[in-house]
Amino acid sequence: MSNYNSKSLKAEEFISDEEILETLKFAEENKDDTETMKKILERARDCKGLTYREAAQLLECEDPEIQELIFSTAKYIKERNYGNRIVMFAPLYLSNYCINGCRYCPYHGQNKHIRRSKLTQEEIKKEVIALQDMGHKRLAIELGEHPTINPIEYVLESIETIYSIKHKNGAIRRVNVNIAATTVENYKKLHDAGIGTYILFQETYNKKQYEFLHPTGPKSDYAYHTEAMDRAMQGGIDDVGCGVLFGLNLYKYDFVGILMHAKHLEDTYGCGPHTISVPRVRPADDINPDDLKNGVPDDVFKRIIAILRIAVPYTGIIMSTRESEEMRGEAIEIGVSQISGGSRTSVGGYVEEEKEEDNSAQFDVNDRRTLGEVVDWLIDKDHVPSFCTACYRAGRTGDRFMSLVKKGQIANICLPNALMTLKEYLEDYASEETKEKGLALIRRQLDNIPNEKVRDLVTQHLEDMDQGMRDFRL
Ligand code: SF4
Ligand code: SF4
Repeated sequence: MSNYNSKSLKAEEFISDEEILETLKFAEENKDDTETMKKILERARDCKGLTYREAAQLLECEDPEIQELIFSTAKYIKERNYGNRIVMFAPLYLSNYCINGCRYCPYHGQNKHIRRSKLTQEEIKKEVIALQDMGHKRLAIELGEHPTINPIEYVLESIETIYSIKHKNGAIRRVNVNIAATTVENYKKLHDAGIGTYILFQETYNKKQYEFLHPTGPKSDYAYHTEAMDRAMQGGIDDVGCGVLFGLNLYKYDFVGILMHAKHLEDTYGCGPHTISVPRVRPADDINPDDLKNGVPDDVFKRIIAILRIAVPYTGIIMSTRESEEMRGEAIEIGVSQISGGSRTSVGGYVEEEKEEDNSAQFDVNDRRTLGEVVDWLIDKDHVPSFCTACYRAGRTGDRFMSLVKKGQIANICLPNALMTLKEYLEDYASEETKEKGLALIRRQLDNIPNEKVRDLVTQHLEDMDQGMRDFRL
């Protein structure tokens, strides 16, 4: 009998290897049952999600009609739940000192030929001002694991610094944090520091492959890493962001693994992950993705995103600049709701772009456009670039956020916030050409706010912004 138990607090029971292998076998055996899959996809339009078995079956299916249905269903759910707003963010690398030995990351402790650095509070200020001058309002801080160089006190101090900087009309209003798995006590401290989402990628759910990829350092402990989200939730953080690094392991296995993880969080804490990230391995110093032999082709990758959208309809899906403009353009149609823009993936990279000889970027950026260019591109695609941070600031986190999406209130909240924050961006940071197109988009989109009172309020706030007022939110 399988050891699987979605409510267990033990990694190897809520992510059961046996249950994943059973699921993959079931999917393989039932991949031609197109009639059942049509019914599954029809039912999925109610936005109640899919079981991981149903999702695995869909991923396995090669029937072109089903594949088309997967994309159209994903698009329908994406539009229903999120409308056409795309939330913008940027990563901020604080330190690349790390004692772990991850085989896919250039910051691994054994790599002696990258330049190591850690930002001082003064340097963080400069980076944040550079980010504010681009128009960013939402950051994800990133740093390697090092008990003496990057202790929790450094992380907390840096968060305080970031929130404290008000430059011109700029402000960082939400700091998401991506740090190594830690204790409940440290998660409490992060919660008290006012972080947005706590993000931690699982990398791979396959224990054996995980242990191969993490030969040294604290991260080599599979159970401690996999149970991190439980400790984060126990520490009071109810917005957690999961992710696997596609390309490290057989993608089908990790696809089921991440859905099992989401189910575990939902079943145990009443709230699934706030976001799921979908990074794929990219080249970097000392890293050649081909060595890992698990590359995920573009067509499969798109199906993974679309089925995730259908399977966990209330979870944001994040795509970084690891992916090309073309892939990001397709992904936002079928599931991705949050993207980064103008990213630099090296420590101190916003003030001074890294020099080639430093080799210090965590991965090669594929989409090298500036934030302004990404915003302009989204507007041309009739998507609303959103700099909104309202939910977390209004205390709508965890299950309170989920119930908002479930009640279909996004059009009355997300869209108005997107329009107001876009206007702010257009006034303060955009080129004249982008501003003109963006204002036209706002005028068109106002009619899509269903609630008349909300529409009137937003219209008023948009006018107030012409008088120099800022930071309106619902
Ligand atoms: Fe360190 Fe994270 Fe890179 Fe691993 S992935 S080497 S923990 S920075
Ligand atoms: Fe996100 Fe809430 Fe803003 Fe919508 S209203 S973009 S869910 S913070």
